[in-house]
Amino acid sequence: MRTMLRLLTLLWLVTLAVAAQAADSRPNIVFIFSDDHAFQAISAYNHPLKLNQTPHIDRLAKEGMRFDNCCVTNSICGPSRAVILTGKYSHLNGFPDNSGRARFDGSQQTMPKLLQAAGYQTAIVGKWHLNSDPTGFDYWHILPGQGAYYNPPMFENGNRVMHQGYTTDIIGDISLDWLKHKRDPNKPFLLMCQHKAPHREWEPGPAHLNDFKDRVMPEPDTLFDDYANRGTAAKTQDMTIEKTMTPRDLKLVFPQNLTPEQKKLWDEAYGAENEAFAKANLQGKELVRWKYQRYIKDYLRCIQSVDDNVGRVLKYLDDNGLAENTIVMYSSDQGFYLGEHGWFDKRWIYEESVRTPLLVRWPGKTKAGSTSQDLALNLDFGETFLDAAGVKIPSDMQGRSLVPVLKGATPSDWRKSFYYHYYEYPGPHSVHRHYGVRDQRYTLAYFYRIDEWELYDREQDPKQLKNVYNDPAYADVVKQLKAELARLRAELKVPEDDVPEQRPNPGKNKAKAKS
Ligand code: CA
Repeated sequence: MRTMLRLLTLLWLVTLAVAAQAADSRPNIVFIFSDDHAFQAISAYNHPLKLNQTPHIDRLAKEGMRFDNCCVTNSICGPSRAVILTGKYSHLNGFPDNSGRARFDGSQQTMPKLLQAAGYQTAIVGKWHLNSDPTGFDYWHILPGQGAYYNPPMFENGNRVMHQGYTTDIIGDISLDWLKHKRDPNKPFLLMCQHKAPHREWEPGPAHLNDFKDRVMPEPDTLFDDYANRGTAAKTQDMTIEKTMTPRDLKLVFPQNLTPEQKKLWDEAYGAENEAFAKANLQGKELVRWKYQRYIKDYLRCIQSVDDNVGRVLKYLDDNGLAENTIVMYSSDQGFYLGEHGWFDKRWIYEESVRTPLLVRWPGKTKAGSTSQDLALNLDFGETFLDAAGVKIPSDMQGRSLVPVLKGATPSDWRKSFYYHYYEYPGPHSVHRHYGVRDQRYTLAYFYRIDEWELYDREQDPKQLKNVYNDPAYADVVKQLKAELARLRAELKVPEDDVPEQRPNPGKNKAKAKS
């Protein structure tokens, strides 16, 4: 009897140990996500213009994997977020554009819900931007709509709370507070830490208002692009530094909600420069150059605060023994133009817009300092988290887990091309609706409402300055890519009918509609 009891006790202890080990082996996931952060502005990407230094984000590349070919399926804020939550394209997740009309249907299957059901604690902090309340999160503390850069109202599990300070730092504070005080340390977690920065209107924080002040930033060589050899869409957009930027974008007008102390810092940072600008009465190219300098410096200043807060989260993981069993992923909802082609903003299938940064640290699984040229998509992020957590990926999700890629064993049948679709026209920045296919060499786009095709050979023309769709030398390429496009549209169940015409509401949804 005693032996039996001992055996049973031993068995019980072994079961407990196995269970504990099984629980421990599931990794935590920290997803740090920013809004409109171009890969050109992360020093780990070694951009030739060497715009800035982002030491904390770079740590993820040094200690993990840098993806050099990560793209989004619809290059705009809300839709990209909906793709990540669902692992489904816009035509299936019901959030095709940022018009303010669409509300994310939170009753549908999402990655956070699946992780929650598997025993993960789930939290989201910062920018949400999907017009409905988050579902599938044990804790949420989000900005309404686009949110404000300073002194933001936020919603904590549905309750409105006011904060004072700089939003990027506040999102860092709330994320750390959740990690330190609000989670159960015995359960694995998913934390989505989602910054508003560096979105327009690029308002820097107090700590970085004077960064880059004495530097003349290098200009992209297409700053004065004339859009020759491109289609109607590139010629009729509304996103140029020259014509589209507002006094508010350029800090010639300050935000209204600064405290007197904050306003004083802004006066000190911009006052003298703005006076000199008013006196100089710049015209033509010199005016564009001045705007570019003001824009790029403010954009990069915003990123310095994001980088600081990535550093704070990494330090917390280090100091609390969590770094080893936590996947840390840094990405952005899409790319962004930093003056290339004279533009800011995104939306296009073209490179600076469609490509997004992706850096992943997963100790023991991902080789430190590795890089991947595999075609990754924001569509894959949810599947990747589920796979890493040992949760079965539902068959209706359309992306693919990056876990094998992260382990250095990309499957031989990994995708060689992907489908892209942008829907928001008419709308802010006037980029015509288009869909297309992008592979490792070519980009084929169809601007379907105006019936115009474009083809770019990125090997011959990396800056995408020449549409070669009508060049007979590319006739076979066009034929093959059109077949690939048709294959992808069928496989992804893209409806023939477009989503209905949107009507941007110029009233209270204006901020939401902007992007
Ligand atoms: Ca965005």
